[in-house]
Amino acid sequence: MPELPEVETIRRTLLPMVKGRVVTDVSVFYPPITPDGPDVVKDALAGRTITDVRRVGKHLVLVLGDRVLLVHFRMEGRFFIRKTTHESKHDHVAITLDGIDHLVYNDTRKFGRMLVRDNPGYMDVAPLSLLGPEPAFADPKRIWKTLRSKTIAIKTALLDQHVMAGLGNIYVDETLFASRIHPLKSSKTLTRKDVGTIVKEATRVLDEACALGGSSIRTYTDALGVHGRFQNVLNVHTKAGEPCPTCGQTIIKTVVGGRGTYVCERCQKK
Ligand SMILES: [Zn+2]
Repeated sequence: MPELPEVETIRRTLLPMVKGRVVTDVSVFYPPITPDGPDVVKDALAGRTITDVRRVGKHLVLVLGDRVLLVHFRMEGRFFIRKTTHESKHDHVAITLDGIDHLVYNDTRKFGRMLVRDNPGYMDVAPLSLLGPEPAFADPKRIWKTLRSKTIAIKTALLDQHVMAGLGNIYVDETLFASRIHPLKSSKTLTRKDVGTIVKEATRVLDEACALGGSSIRTYTDALGVHGRFQNVLNVHTKAGEPCPTCGQTIIKTVVGGRGTYVCERCQKK
């Protein structure tokens, strides 16, 4: 699943490919991807120039003057630049650029969504207004106060994008391992120091992953030709049965809030 580092990698890769190009048409082959309606998306984009590509949390933001297209990739969404609009049955939206080629949204699971919002103002309305701060911009004291009111496991709380934005399954496991905190520990029992450590480690983990182009694991690889390398430096995620790099104890896989979770139970005390 594309998490913050993968979306940031898509942003960096896509920017030079699409910036300054005019959208001449939009074709939607699977309408639920565009909940505002295919016509709304087409009217908003056609005739406008792509002026920037930004990222907020795990959302990609295509800026077209006074409109933006928010793209949330969810499980399997990805972009291709193609010569044809509907090469694969998993191609659901084609944004034609300069009448020449197409920015094609492909999604085998069909969970991704594209929304049109006004620019400026798109940060002040849902869904982006509902996001918590990214770890790099988070005030640990504030996050601690939020967590203190929750009785859920810390892993589940960190996956909640209203608490902090940008952390998904891979990076929460790595953050909690680096913070020496068990994923099942109740959010409300964490000290201010614990939360300070979590925010610091989450920032470091995401920065490192962005620098390595994100992670390419399981089915998700960057369709634009970039392969992330962060999977090569994972400490616990996907490492069940292997020795902990810190203490040598065998890493176990468990389930927290329905998500596969990797933990060293010697380093990460409940
Ligand atoms: Zn360990």
